[in-house]
Amino acid sequence: MTAWAALVAIVATGGAVAWGKKADGVVTAKARHGRDRGKAMTPRLAARTAGTRTADAAEARALAADPVLGGARTIRGGEAPGMVAFTFDDGPRAGTTDKVIDALLAYDVPATFFVVGHRITGKRADDARALVARMVEHGFLVGNHTWSHPHLRALGDRRVAAEIDGTTAAIHGLTGAAVGLFRPPYGAHGKRSAAHATHRQLTSVLWSIDSSDWRKPRAARMRKAIVEAIFADDGGVVLMHDTKPLTAQTIAGILDDLEAGNCARLAAGDAPVVPVSLHYFLRDADGPRPVPAEVAARTQRYVDGLPARCTARSKGERENR
Ligand SMILES: [Zn+2]
Repeated sequence: MTAWAALVAIVATGGAVAWGKKADGVVTAKARHGRDRGKAMTPRLAARTAGTRTADAAEARALAADPVLGGARTIRGGEAPGMVAFTFDDGPRAGTTDKVIDALLAYDVPATFFVVGHRITGKRADDARALVARMVEHGFLVGNHTWSHPHLRALGDRRVAAEIDGTTAAIHGLTGAAVGLFRPPYGAHGKRSAAHATHRQLTSVLWSIDSSDWRKPRAARMRKAIVEAIFADDGGVVLMHDTKPLTAQTIAGILDDLEAGNCARLAAGDAPVVPVSLHYFLRDADGPRPVPAEVAARTQRYVDGLPARCTARSKGERENR
């Protein structure tokens, strides 16, 4: 099925659509009523069917409601001084996302991928789905970045719901987990989309450090600017795009410079800026959310491992001299 069907259907049709799941995890949908009964959903059919039933919001909400990540205040990047969270939008894309994951693993850095629904749905999305599986396998977070990357302010209620809920359903279909994080395309929520995300208990995630990788800067310049901003701001949330070859080529260098900067801080007796999962940026009205033990353990592993990495770096530098 096209994914567009998933979204419109899940939001607006409720029992009008028969949901299924193929062995490869692809969510399928067929019309259950009327002259289109049994037909696989297409965008047009989904829209037609959508008019016939009231919304089944409860189901869409249940898929999104994550008690650990969802329903927190909007993350803007200044919530956790001394910590940096890397986020990658618009993927997954074979050929670039894999390189980003490789670099994150090599430098033991957590990250969140805000994926676009249409990329992980359909017959030709096997590579993209495998990348999501790899993200989950290594403990990266997978967030919702809408179905088709629209300007949400320009959309009506039904389309907003479809963009968000359809993507939640697509991610859930692959990961089996609730989706608690949402990033509006261009960082631009409209009134409708903000209300919808809140209703679905999605935590909206913005950023404080924009890599501007989409502007095609020179690689060396981008690398330097991001790392300088991380240390100047004492951490934050970094926005990058794992669909960009530039980012795929540069991310290892950025993580290497971050590690080098942290080694310099350690040598000077200062605290490092610790790369962490977005969990540390979650805030409720009464303050920071508790961080799950396994997430805290991962952070501690980076901190504990840093001195040895720094020693290995300085040895390597001597040998290269
Ligand atoms: Zn985007």
